Amino acid sequence: MQNFIYDIPTKVYFGKDQIQHLHTILGEYGKKALLVYGGGSIKRNGIYDAILKEAEVSATSIVELSGVEANPQLGTVKRGIKIAREAQADVILAVGGGSSIDCAKAIAAGVYYDGNPWDFVIDESKITKALPIISVLTIAATGSEMDHISVISNIETQEKIGMRHPLLRPKVSIMDPTYTFSVSKYQSASGTADIMSHVMESYFSKEEAYLQDQFAESLLKTCIEFGVTAYNKPDHYEARANLMWASSWAINDLLKLGKPVAWSVHPIEHQLSAVYDITHGVGLAILTPHWMEYVLNDSTVEKFATLARNVWGVEDCEDQFKVARAGIERLKAFYHQLELPTTLSQLDIDETHFEAMAAKCEPALKDAYVALSKEDIIKIYKASL
Ligand SMILES: [Zn+2]
Repeated sequence: MQNFIYDIPTKVYFGKDQIQHLHTILGEYGKKALLVYGGGSIKRNGIYDAILKEAEVSATSIVELSGVEANPQLGTVKRGIKIAREAQADVILAVGGGSSIDCAKAIAAGVYYDGNPWDFVIDESKITKALPIISVLTIAATGSEMDHISVISNIETQEKIGMRHPLLRPKVSIMDPTYTFSVSKYQSASGTADIMSHVMESYFSKEEAYLQDQFAESLLKTCIEFGVTAYNKPDHYEARANLMWASSWAINDLLKLGKPVAWSVHPIEHQLSAVYDITHGVGLAILTPHWMEYVLNDSTVEKFATLARNVWGVEDCEDQFKVARAGIERLKAFYHQLELPTTLSQLDIDETHFEAMAAKCEPALKDAYVALSKEDIIKIYKASL
């Protein structure tokens, strides 16, 4: 196991009615908050009113940025920075899933940056300071509630880029599984696929860290155990609770400690959602089995066979390729149970942009679990059609 620093400082309030602590939390971080959220769902399910009530108790004044897109846009980040500066906000309160939280993170850093925020999206070293971020999670998926990553899209350049910086990690996250009861079946399924992908991005590494890999397998088994339950019974508390907690631990750094990790499938997917604005988890669910089939070879077969045995319960046999392929088939069958699309054609995506998309993500894949060239990536896109 390589040397590492363990530093995952987000304070988590997990469970039913934990919003009742928000006034105390707000009191610790400031008197003027920028509330960042997406559509109107938080007004329909009562979360918005609960937040305003808590803000009133702590005498925190609230300004708002609403309408954050599923793939948060640079323009929205700029709008948020302007509102935060005018109101002299001292804390950002993000309510929603990865979209709202990622947008809040970029605003938090942007308030202290003179210039185009896109500068620090493509070069995180330009981030020097950020407002504290509090998140109230309403969907189990991206893990943004406990990680230091923010993914922002630039419609002008058709780019979607993830930046990483310790200052972007939320100080506090409130995770109430009942808030995810109203998440649609489609979003629940794609959220589960996203969580599983985050786990696998760390699991498939050039080196092993035994304990972390056991954690990873447990997280995948948790998603398998509860993903379909949450899909079929939206108000199943244990299913929602386990998925919510799994979403955070999939990507809060624990799994990558002690081993070199360079993600493989996310860079390929980010191009899809940048160009076609598709749901991130759906893109991952389509691409992942094809990526697995493409990189399965003599040097990777052992890891894929281990995953198949330990996570999917595939029976061992002498032919490790057979075991590995059976695991990939189980993954496909699981996504099928979640009624996720299985081909890019189903999303009306054709070959038109494959070449340009592959060229854009190729640099990120040079150090991946299996290094992929532009030609390799195009082949994976084509296999996913
Ligand atoms: Zn993701």
